[in-house]
Amino acid sequence: MKSLRYVLCTCLVVLCSVTAQAKNEKEPDPTPIEKWKGKTILVFTPHPDDETFTSGGTLKILADNGNNIQIVIFTNDDKGSTDLEMTSERLARIRKAEEEAACKALGIPKENITWLGYEDGNLEYADPKVLRGKVARQIKIHRPDAVFSVDPGEKNERWHKTDHRMAAFITQDAFIAAEWHLYYPNHMLVENLKPYHVPLAFFYYSEDANTTVDVTDVFDAKIKACAAHVSQFEPSNSKYTPEMSKETYQGVYDWMAGFSKKGDRFYEQFRRVEWP
Ligand SMILES: [Zn+2]
Repeated sequence: MKSLRYVLCTCLVVLCSVTAQAKNEKEPDPTPIEKWKGKTILVFTPHPDDETFTSGGTLKILADNGNNIQIVIFTNDDKGSTDLEMTSERLARIRKAEEEAACKALGIPKENITWLGYEDGNLEYADPKVLRGKVARQIKIHRPDAVFSVDPGEKNERWHKTDHRMAAFITQDAFIAAEWHLYYPNHMLVENLKPYHVPLAFFYYSEDANTTVDVTDVFDAKIKACAAHVSQFEPSNSKYTPEMSKETYQGVYDWMAGFSKKGDRFYEQFRRVEWP
């Protein structure tokens, strides 16, 4: 009987998830995302740069079209340096400034960046229930037309690094938590944040992409944004300098073009999933 009860409960959860508690405020927009205007886009990224490298061109197009883009960054990226004179505190400050410069190049104001402030490389050791609540809260605050996030798809589990894995799964889990006010009741009781149903997601770092965006016209801006993450490229990574040489800039361009270029056009790819 125990196992039967378990099966019934599981089915009930699935059924309830399909008939989500939160009313659909927004339906998935079938229009190609590069045509969107006046929408709200909520971007979750494990580190300050994953969204730049994977989605920067698409975000630039969306920003140019007058959409409201909000970036939520899980970690402060305070470990990614091989400079033996670097400290975590200093690196976190550098990474914050670099992310703000990258967002500026994409037309996203720094006021639209929310830092959750977790330590780099340690997201899987954070309290998952607290973390999911923070993500659900951001969803309820911004009520996005679409969310961008790391693809939690099964093929990706094999290669995700720790922060990417945790950010991918916790964000997906938060979609459900955001729909039901009793998961985090204080969101409504204290802050009057109503439940919200995410209608659409664009997953980056996907091995199952089903959506392609032509970013050729904004590719130079994307490279400028990528190159703003100076400390993540050599020689700055091993001996920090805020300057980037022309040769390194060209290297960033070549690296990015290597997996973006088809013929004479540049593309970004996503797995688009909708929940009407
Ligand atoms: Zn990352």
